[in-house]
Amino acid sequence: MLSRVLSACLVSVLLIPSISHAEWFWYSGTAMTTRIELQLWSDDQATADSASEAVFAEFDRINQRMTRYSEDSELSLVNREAGERPVEVSDSLFRVIEEAQRVSKLSNGAFDISFGSVGFLYDYRELKQPTDTEVAERLQHVSFRDIVLDAEKQTVAFRKPRMKLDLGGIAKGYAVDRGIGILKARGIHHARLSAGGDMRLLGDKRGSPWVVGVRDPRSEDSNAVVLPVSDLALSTSGDYERFFIDEAGNRIHHILSPETGRPAKGIQSVTVMGPDALTTDGLSTAVFVLGVEKGLAMINGLNGIDAIIIDENRDMHYSQGLAAPEAVDSTP
Ligand code: ADP
Ligand code: MG
Repeated sequence: MLSRVLSACLVSVLLIPSISHAEWFWYSGTAMTTRIELQLWSDDQATADSASEAVFAEFDRINQRMTRYSEDSELSLVNREAGERPVEVSDSLFRVIEEAQRVSKLSNGAFDISFGSVGFLYDYRELKQPTDTEVAERLQHVSFRDIVLDAEKQTVAFRKPRMKLDLGGIAKGYAVDRGIGILKARGIHHARLSAGGDMRLLGDKRGSPWVVGVRDPRSEDSNAVVLPVSDLALSTSGDYERFFIDEAGNRIHHILSPETGRPAKGIQSVTVMGPDALTTDGLSTAVFVLGVEKGLAMINGLNGIDAIIIDENRDMHYSQGLAAPEAVDSTP
């Protein structure tokens, strides 16, 4: 707030009145069970307020379609009926499932939205996890190759009738991209929009890069690293967002291995950077499940994508695009 007041003062002191009083505007709220933050540069309050309202409305619209927590969502309809017949879905739901399938193939099934078949048995608030028998039974329905998409008819069908999809690892990235699309269409050139661990930066911070912190996974108020970046999407997947410690002392968190049906091990957090948040959201969850070595190999094979991983020993790993350049031998 103070900085907003200060920047408003500076503008009125430094600029002659006929020039527009553009300034930063901040908004925050809750959508998709997560905190949404928006900062944008605009000429006037009315334009900024209306852009922000449109972004928040879009988050709600996407959530109504893609949440598994409501019986009325389009996703719930798919989960109920796609085992019996192909279900025609909206453009947005089709787009998200299609991208999820792409990430599943890239990661050889480490990312798999049908993990929901077993994921539904976890309740992090109630400290509830499934028994080994329950996991073994549900794992049979986890299989992205049995999700059948028909692009022409825009339908989704399941080859395994009891399969259930969960888009928690990818839908927020899509919503962030849609939000940025709305801002662009309204003539906004500088903005920062985040939904929990998914963020996208539109333009720079007016003459300087945005400074984005990658949180220390074991401390709420300190950063492991800060990055100066512009025009970029960043997604972080961590074992600290939703978790409990069970009686045996295991950390039961929300990113599950589709192979074991249990929380993936080896990594505390992954941040993936790329051109759009739909891509980075799916990939960050995928790298988390793949582990350091396979995760970095996948990222290094993709153009324009980078990652920072903090492993279980708190060691940091960088993809090739970020690794410090080798010392150059300058002898003639
Ligand atoms: P956050 O939701 O904290 O931003 P992620 O993007 O990593 O973090 O998403 C975690 C969510 O992804 C989980 O809450 C769950 O809904 C979903 N998920 C968990 N494991 C997998 C998996 N193996 N493949 C696809 N989605 C997953
Ligand atoms: Mg993700």
